[in-house]
Amino acid sequence: MSFELEFDVVIVGAGGCGLTAAIALHDTWPQATLAVVDKAERACGNTVLSSGSIPAAGTRFQKAVGIHDSPEIFQQDLLGVAGEHEALHLTRALTESSAELVEWLVDRANVRLTLVETYKHIGHRVHRLHSPPSRRGEDLVNDLLAECERRDIPVVWHSTVRELVTSGNRVEGIVYTTPDGEEIRVGARHVVLASNGYAANRRILERFVPEIAQAPYGGGMGSEGEAIEWGEALGAGLANMKAYQAHASLADPHGSLVTWTVVEKGGFIVDRSGRRFGNESIGYSAFAALELQRSGPFWVIADTRVRDTTARGQEEYAELVEHGGVMEGSLEEICRRSGIDPQGLAETLAEVRTSARDGTPDRYGRTDWGLGPLEETLTATRIGPALFHTQGGLKVDVDGRVLRIDGTPIEGLWAGGGAASGISGNRGSLGYMSGNGLLGALGLGYRIGRAIGRNMHAGT
Ligand SMILES: Cc1cc2nc3c(=O)[nH]c(=O)nc-3n(C[C@H](O)[C@H](O)[C@H](O)COP(=O)(O)OP(=O)(O)OC[C@H]3O[C@@H](n4cnc5c(N)ncnc54)[C@H](O)[C@@H]3O)c2cc1C
Repeated sequence: MSFELEFDVVIVGAGGCGLTAAIALHDTWPQATLAVVDKAERACGNTVLSSGSIPAAGTRFQKAVGIHDSPEIFQQDLLGVAGEHEALHLTRALTESSAELVEWLVDRANVRLTLVETYKHIGHRVHRLHSPPSRRGEDLVNDLLAECERRDIPVVWHSTVRELVTSGNRVEGIVYTTPDGEEIRVGARHVVLASNGYAANRRILERFVPEIAQAPYGGGMGSEGEAIEWGEALGAGLANMKAYQAHASLADPHGSLVTWTVVEKGGFIVDRSGRRFGNESIGYSAFAALELQRSGPFWVIADTRVRDTTARGQEEYAELVEHGGVMEGSLEEICRRSGIDPQGLAETLAEVRTSARDGTPDRYGRTDWGLGPLEETLTATRIGPALFHTQGGLKVDVDGRVLRIDGTPIEGLWAGGGAASGISGNRGSLGYMSGNGLLGALGLGYRIGRAIGRNMHAGT
């Protein structure tokens, strides 16, 4: 078979997974020739859209502020939310290498990360999210791209991978098209699928998660599920296909994220009647399922103190506040402007304040009210649920080798991030914990890059 170009390794997708895999490979075996190919014109995948929060247990950043954490505690937290699922080996491997990943990103990949101490998000018993100081995934990706440039790793934009080239049972390369439609065949001993999941492809959503297929989508448009289709055509297994991350609070109509920190600091969610309809402590992904079962609109109610402390730590929310996306006023003013029923909201507020003051569980079992009872000047933001990304994908081993249904590896094929199975259970939006997306992306990317590097070092 003839190829226009040949590399040791080709990585499909320049998001968190692909760029991390590239740097980890270069770090382990600098002699490897490699290229990263992406269909977008510039970095705009889900890693860019995320808050860049990577969970890790036992890092030196945690130890420096006296936080006791370990992979075992982290695993318990994850399994407590996700329940049993089809990729428990990944939960174990990714938690065990999480501290090493974050310290390596800082020390060897020059990624600026700090421990997030102002929020930890539901399910995490201790502060373990590590994120760029801006809390923006864009900065995370820019740092990874700068490191690729420093190491002379080529990242080729505007080039859509259309198919995998195979010979017998092994993958031998890819075919991509350039912006002017030219087809280029690239040979590679190892192909890494880092092209994310299928949340932008309604046809595949209908097949695996029909309940969310028509919901608004808040992720990158590149997530069209090619990895699933290529893998299945080669006999690959799939795992945790029913899992996804939804979010209960996308600002309506602004479309930006109302961080769940607003809820964690004491906010709550009501519908037009001014009544709550569930325990917000189950988290933003699981709460979205409750919203999807009823008709909106919905509002997150908080006070100016919650708003201002949240905005100080999170730029995207601060911008929403600045652009007038968060109403402020007395209960009567809020209700007049929003159309929320004033009597319903007054009763809800009284009940919630009592629970926050006395520490007694409210009617839904919620006990954690962050900063305590809400004050007189309230805030309200109109919100709705959205799908953010899918968490099911190709069945892989702990280093990202793609496995057939019978568990044997497909030679030459690797997958990580949204292209591979996630660790968020297999029950819709219920099993997702903050950070699971990036742990699967950067965590598997790191393991894939190192495993390929070790293979090449051993001459295989
Ligand atoms: C709004 C939002 C907020 C989030 N916040 C967090 C968070 O704080 N923490 C967390 O852990 N997770 C978060 N997530 C989830 C997380 O962002 C994703 O799980 C993770 O970024 C996936 O990384 P990836 O590298 O697999 O995909 P991406 O970052 O999407 O990269 C995939 C790349 O592959 C390219 N590609 C796709 N198909 C092809 C093809 N055929 N040819 C060439 N290139 C292709 C795409 O253009 C894209 O650039 C969030 C998601 C969203 C949408």
